[in-house]
Amino acid sequence: MKRSRILALLVGGVFCVAVMSLYRMLELMQGSERDRQGGPAVGQVEEDLSRLQLKIDRLEHLLVDNNRLVARLRDSLLVRESQEGRRVSNVSSDSSHSRAGPPPGCQTAEEMKDGADGVQLLDVYDLLPFDNPDGGAWKQGFEITYNGDEWAEHPLELFLVPHSHNDPGWLKTFDGYFQDQTRHILDNMLVKLGEDSRRKMIWAEISYFSKWWSGIDEQKRELVKRLVKAGQLELVTGGWVMADEANSHYFALLDQLIEGHQWLQTHLGVKPSSGWAVDPFGHSPSMTYLLKGAGLSNMVIQRVHYSVKKHFARQQTLEFLWRQNWDSSSRSDITCHMMPFYSYDVPHTCGPNPSVCCQFDFHRLPGGRVFCPWKIPPQPITEQNIKERALLLLDQYRQKSRLFRSSVLLVPLGDDFRYVESKEWDAQFSNYQKLFDYFDQHPELHIKARFGTLSDYFAALHRRLSTTGKNLRTLRGDFFTYADRDDHYWSGYFTSRPFYKRLDRTLESTLRATEILYTLTLAEMRRYRGDGHLVEGFPEGEHYQRLTEARRNLGLFQHHDAVTGTARDPVVIDYGTRLFRSILNLRQVLLSSAHWLLLLDKSQYHKDQSKSFLEMSEVISAQDALPQKTILTLGDEPRSLVVFNPTEQLQTTVVNLVVDSPDARVVDAETGLPLAAQISAVWEEPSKVSSQAFQLSFVAELPPLSLVVYHVIKAPGRSVPWARYIIHRHGKPPTVQSEHFQMTRLEGDEANAPLSLRNKHLQIWSSPETGLLQKLRLQSGLVRQVKVQFLWYGTRTSGEKSGAYLFLPGVEGPQVYSPSEPPLVRVTRGPVFSEITSCFPHFTHTVRLYHLDGHAGKSLEISNTVDIRSESNKELVMRLISDVASGNRFYTDLNGFQMQQRRTLEKLPLQANFYPMTSSSFLQDSSSRLSLLSAQSQAVASLRSGELELVLDRRLQQDDNRGLGQGVTDNKLTASLYRLLLEDRKGGAKEVGGASVQHLSLLAHLASLSLSHPPIAMVAPGNGQLPKLRPFQPLRSSLPCDVHLLNLRTLEDQQEAGSPSQEAALLIHRKGFDCNSAPDPLPTCTWSEQEEVNLDNLFSPLQFRSLRRSGFTLLRDQDEPDSADQAAHVTALRPMEINAFRVQIA
Ligand SMILES: [Zn+2]
Repeated sequence: MKRSRILALLVGGVFCVAVMSLYRMLELMQGSERDRQGGPAVGQVEEDLSRLQLKIDRLEHLLVDNNRLVARLRDSLLVRESQEGRRVSNVSSDSSHSRAGPPPGCQTAEEMKDGADGVQLLDVYDLLPFDNPDGGAWKQGFEITYNGDEWAEHPLELFLVPHSHNDPGWLKTFDGYFQDQTRHILDNMLVKLGEDSRRKMIWAEISYFSKWWSGIDEQKRELVKRLVKAGQLELVTGGWVMADEANSHYFALLDQLIEGHQWLQTHLGVKPSSGWAVDPFGHSPSMTYLLKGAGLSNMVIQRVHYSVKKHFARQQTLEFLWRQNWDSSSRSDITCHMMPFYSYDVPHTCGPNPSVCCQFDFHRLPGGRVFCPWKIPPQPITEQNIKERALLLLDQYRQKSRLFRSSVLLVPLGDDFRYVESKEWDAQFSNYQKLFDYFDQHPELHIKARFGTLSDYFAALHRRLSTTGKNLRTLRGDFFTYADRDDHYWSGYFTSRPFYKRLDRTLESTLRATEILYTLTLAEMRRYRGDGHLVEGFPEGEHYQRLTEARRNLGLFQHHDAVTGTARDPVVIDYGTRLFRSILNLRQVLLSSAHWLLLLDKSQYHKDQSKSFLEMSEVISAQDALPQKTILTLGDEPRSLVVFNPTEQLQTTVVNLVVDSPDARVVDAETGLPLAAQISAVWEEPSKVSSQAFQLSFVAELPPLSLVVYHVIKAPGRSVPWARYIIHRHGKPPTVQSEHFQMTRLEGDEANAPLSLRNKHLQIWSSPETGLLQKLRLQSGLVRQVKVQFLWYGTRTSGEKSGAYLFLPGVEGPQVYSPSEPPLVRVTRGPVFSEITSCFPHFTHTVRLYHLDGHAGKSLEISNTVDIRSESNKELVMRLISDVASGNRFYTDLNGFQMQQRRTLEKLPLQANFYPMTSSSFLQDSSSRLSLLSAQSQAVASLRSGELELVLDRRLQQDDNRGLGQGVTDNKLTASLYRLLLEDRKGGAKEVGGASVQHLSLLAHLASLSLSHPPIAMVAPGNGQLPKLRPFQPLRSSLPCDVHLLNLRTLEDQQEAGSPSQEAALLIHRKGFDCNSAPDPLPTCTWSEQEEVNLDNLFSPLQFRSLRRSGFTLLRDQDEPDSADQAAHVTALRPMEINAFRVQIA
């Protein structure tokens, strides 16, 4: 009975597949790219032949496709059979849900309704005048008054929190600071905290702490542990660095938090409970979400727009429960304290008057190197002056206290690289102790003051709130864009040093790919051996150390002076070198892992296999160089090519190689069947074709997380179609010679007609003068104007000028980029992709259309290479001008984790309306949405309805007075990469008036995934025979479209430091996606209809020997109990949430 039903299903499935493929064949016959009307007839026959060949290729390819599909169907039926009787909802196959309704799991736009107790930052922005009046002693605030009896019932309970802000690189390198300052600070800490148990200190940067730890002896380590246990020393946040929150991607933010927390667990056995972020230039709720998920319950932030601070101070909402926009529960809430004043230094932390507070920075006592700029120096506390001094300080404390709901007060005591010398410790601790003692002796003052840690403070705060029955209000939103004074908005750093912002993401994707492949390799090896051991000769320890170093270098670069582009030139080079070296090291691990996984006969894996038989098809030659493809030389023997798909989705994608002959093709190593491909020219100069190198682009179908093997072979006689070219320069036709490619010039009327490209989903039109995009049409018939334009911003002619941090554009505003002569435009047409490239003096801009299905065919790829080294005080901007009626609303992502609504406000200066874009932004009206996805972070704005503009590079000759002491003039040839996606919005897209939660569409998510995690191509060296390889395919099918495998990260062995354990962190992010732009037809990946999923099925055929839910940073005491029971692997994955599991793969 059961069997026959399965058979019926199977036959039905095969029939469906057969019908589908017939349909696809028909589509293929009709849908291949059409020529521009009236195109040249030369070579027509040849072209028809090559097109026919292509069709045959694709049909052959389809056959392979279908075989795989049938296999997959059979698999899913088997899975279903095994599930029967168990009420587990899991991945449903495509055919099982109705296509009429919206995809399950999607989110409609919702207005955020906050109760009377809720604050929405967007509303605050609408409300505030941003008028910046002089507030007196507290310049950006107001006069604070009190009667004096406010503390009679509940005395002022004050915690003075000593801290030293140690930048892991800024004016000096990480190592430079460590040698000159940090190690002395920590050495002295041991001595000075040890002298008096009332003394306290907090420390944030684990990068420094771990480096110092590795150089101290066991006795000192014990002392550290004692101080931590006694509560005198608190490790706050516990991240590798105090991360930037604008440019950093949530993968890296979480990774550096894991690295820090794991270190703390291993070496000190502690887990942080309070966050401390006093210097990042604006704050993101994504960071908050990660902190909460890592087990923290409190946090402190500092750099918030001065007008917002003032407003919050008036409302007594400087302390609030920070809630995620999308969270309808209180699950994501974390208690947040926002510092009220200008800075985290001593003059701006004791109270509103810096000239008074500075007198209580005893490091600035006369005779030292630092002094008070307000010209009233501190005095040592003596019996003679103590009363006057104590009352003066108390007045500041009391004023500050009036800004908060409780009478518990947090007062930080520190600054950048403080407490280096022991006399500074003595000066601060002894003078303050005298003041505290005085307060103790005078109960009529109603103050209890002491040194404290953040946890001391927050514990007292929560106690006080509960005894007084007061609640904190909830707040939703983010704190961008930061201004510290006047119109000085810190939107410059969203783009500064864009080369390294791109390199950062290259390391990030390389790290993730390597982590996953390394973890799978260890699991496969253990399974192969059957005794839990690894294969002899595999350098798992060395590889683990390479991984660790890469994690730490990526972590280091998330520092708020690193990825921000706000460090000195030599420090930038130091960071760049670390990123570069880590990429090279990771590649070794990746190649070596792939080597073992690919071997058909594992017994051939000999000792000393640290050297892999593969190499990368793309090389990076230096820390400041763009990646370049190596030229594959083709001989009589086929060259093996391996492609790794680091995503959890089946990807149909174009892989590009450079070969030494145009007579080349790629065949599937297993079946020998050729793949759809195209040969295009490699350009040495805008109008000079290489005669030695050719680009071979082929369509690869890559199963999730798979390694697929191909052969690149010599195939004479144009077996692969060659791209055809139109070379054009408006009014000045160029001459381009090529012995291989057909190069056509536009003559007569043609030279003035728009250039056009199309695939079966899209048609685009570009300007014949510039080659730049003008219009877009979808298959549905929707036509939208989308014009690309380039502009320059200059800086102000007088006063403060733009620098690494600040964007202070000149009053003239942006000027349209207008070169002295029209650009050379190249139109490429081929069966795999077609593109239009415009070569301007300062940049090369390409719009590419792939002749593929899915997100790859439905979006446009845009790429730029920019070089503005010949300019001074200029910023180059790419602007998209559309007729989408978006008003003043647009959306940008926060750290690639979530979308945030933005409102362009006229009351703010231009530079205030720029926001960070880590990976995506979109505009929409009721009928369409235009999404721009990016592979790097940069500044974005929507200054007018329908427009999006991105700052590509900035070259600024001067310092902007934030301590850096230099401009940004180390520009290089810099690449940026995007996908532009226009989608119909259907189902009566709801327009929400207020602050709304919006998500990317499913297609946008998939496009973003492939942009961030491109396939990795590896080639066998030209000489020598390779052993027999077999493809590696760890997953039976793609994960649901909305489920992202964030990482599969091997954890360190607790017994053997520096070695891999058998455990890994499985990090899964279930995304939220938009209902109104559901793609039609739905993508081939599937999704689960409910929150409950069975991870065993999701990752089948991988088996988990153990699986426990844990905190985001995998601290042991956050593990839920293990259950060997398979049913326990059913777990809830809620939309938007990250989930962490400690797993052992069987
Ligand atoms: Zn800093």
